[in-house]
Amino acid sequence: MLLGEGEGFVSCACGRRHWGPYGAAGLLLVDPLRGVLLQHRAVWTHHGSTWALPGGAVLPGETPADAAIRETEEETTVPSEAVRVLASCVEDHGTWCYTTVLATVRNAVEARVANGESTALHWVPPDEVEGYRLHHDFAAAWPLLREQLGRELVLVVDAANVIGARPDGWWRDRAGAVARLRDRLAVLSRVGVAAHRVGLDLERRWCWWPRVVLVTEGKARHVDEVEGVEIVAAPGEGDDTLVETVADLRSSRPRDHVVVVTADRELRRRAGEHGSAFLGPTELWRLFDESAAQTPKPQG
Ligand SMILES: [Zn+2]
Repeated sequence: MLLGEGEGFVSCACGRRHWGPYGAAGLLLVDPLRGVLLQHRAVWTHHGSTWALPGGAVLPGETPADAAIRETEEETTVPSEAVRVLASCVEDHGTWCYTTVLATVRNAVEARVANGESTALHWVPPDEVEGYRLHHDFAAAWPLLREQLGRELVLVVDAANVIGARPDGWWRDRAGAVARLRDRLAVLSRVGVAAHRVGLDLERRWCWWPRVVLVTEGKARHVDEVEGVEIVAAPGEGDDTLVETVADLRSSRPRDHVVVVTADRELRRRAGEHGSAFLGPTELWRLFDESAAQTPKPQG
């Protein structure tokens, strides 16, 4: 058998063999109306005849999320454009790692067996997953994954407070400074962020692709939205609007993780009453500096 770069088995420090010298990734895709997409693996595959997630080896130059989405499209015809990544969870063996990418569908999709790696595809309600004969690694990970299934990380950003935290001349052009902040947040929503860096009480293996709500006020409140960043322009006092936004988010989607970015103590107290976590503006700027230092990836 001829293997391409990024294919083949790894003899792992854990004593087992795994597929993918650059690691492997699988897509835990949820359709809120139908459940999660499970694949019945063909008998010839590694641990064949069990149910698991579509996915496969990570190729050189790919992120695990890229790999999980590409493999899913190849195996199930679910188009990459229909997939919205929410989070990922890494199982790191040192010499090898497996990343589960949690995602939701942007619109109704059909999944069809598209290559020889699977014999069936089912949308399975979460309560019924354990009734299937699961691949043992997926069975072991499922309880942890299920806790975060379909949940989003929402960053609610106090624009005035965050731009004020870095003296880069923002006072000369507040609207321009808010637009730059919005663009940096858009990058963060595309590249993702480690859970522990945004104040979430989760293990370090978790990473999230946040939905961002930027609360603007005063002369700098009219800023256009971009992909990944919603703008909430306060008609009056920005703090009141931010607290209302947090309360709405918590009541409409109570399972989501909501993190408010502000250094304002009184605002933290008020938002905290609705059950949000917090991140300081300095920590957010540090994340921006790090994401800017990463090699930019062409937009697809
Ligand atoms: Zn291993």
